[in-house]
Amino acid sequence: MAAPPRTDARTDSYDLDDLRRRVLPQDGGTVDDTVPQLARADPGLCGMALALADGTVLASEQADAPVSVQSAVKPFLFALALLDTGGAALDRVGIEPTGEAYDAIKLEGGTGRPPNPMVNAGALLTASLVRGDDVEARSARVLEGLSAFAGSELAVDDDVARSEHLLGDRNHALAHLMRAEGALEVGADDAVAVYARACAVLVDARRLAVMGATLALGGRNPVTGDQVVPREVARDVVSVMATCGVYDGSGRWMRSVGVPAKSSVSGAVVLSATGVLGAAVISPPLDEQGTSVRGHVASELLSRELDLHAFGSRRG
Ligand code: GLN
Repeated sequence: MAAPPRTDARTDSYDLDDLRRRVLPQDGGTVDDTVPQLARADPGLCGMALALADGTVLASEQADAPVSVQSAVKPFLFALALLDTGGAALDRVGIEPTGEAYDAIKLEGGTGRPPNPMVNAGALLTASLVRGDDVEARSARVLEGLSAFAGSELAVDDDVARSEHLLGDRNHALAHLMRAEGALEVGADDAVAVYARACAVLVDARRLAVMGATLALGGRNPVTGDQVVPREVARDVVSVMATCGVYDGSGRWMRSVGVPAKSSVSGAVVLSATGVLGAAVISPPLDEQGTSVRGHVASELLSRELDLHAFGSRRG
């Protein structure tokens, strides 16, 4: 019997503006204020996009509104670190969930490695493992890699990068702790600088959905056709998104949405439904775990209406 179709008419004609209208009344949560640029975000912003396996991108109103990617960059930094180290990055960072906040000052017991690549310690480390001899070269490599995932040339918001670098005291603390444990091989300040620039890359829902789709579709960007990372790298990254992507809310997310995802303090959420699609929702007000409130509700509805739950899907 032929394999069931991975996209279908229901997905192709999904009405994201209707979904957006349904989630807009959810006005809970608070906008992050860790850097002034994020504190100024419009709490009413809500943009959504889906990127399908055939390269079609569906978008709602406000799907082109830019925000800094923040922690939604972490799966992609992990992917680039795996690619650039030929997989050796897996020896340098754990892959177990922490049950703690994203910026917890905590390393893996016994090894001194960061617990996983989806929390700040891990992303500081993976950003230090991408190819490049200094901050500039690694930052350029990160931007080039993220652009390949997005199928579009991305840019850094320099103001956000400066604020993240200056105000990221917990990130500096984590970098120094990892140096002390022998886990981080580059200078602590250099590690924070590259990570801060990575968090400050501007995305919108449309581009972020394509990035999520590239991971969901075995590392191949469905819009450009580029094989951005090998299939095994995409598989490893999505596996860790599934268990650690929503920090200490990952278990509840997996039950209620069932699609590997990564949240961030700018309110961006990226989802990778393996073999089917990538999605993004961007809406700044956050719940206590630092996940977009509308992003979570929209993801639940999307998962239910498009039958995306990894463990409850009726797809073949
Ligand atoms: N810029 C933030 C930080 O490192 C990103 C955190 C996030 O989005 N959860 O602290």
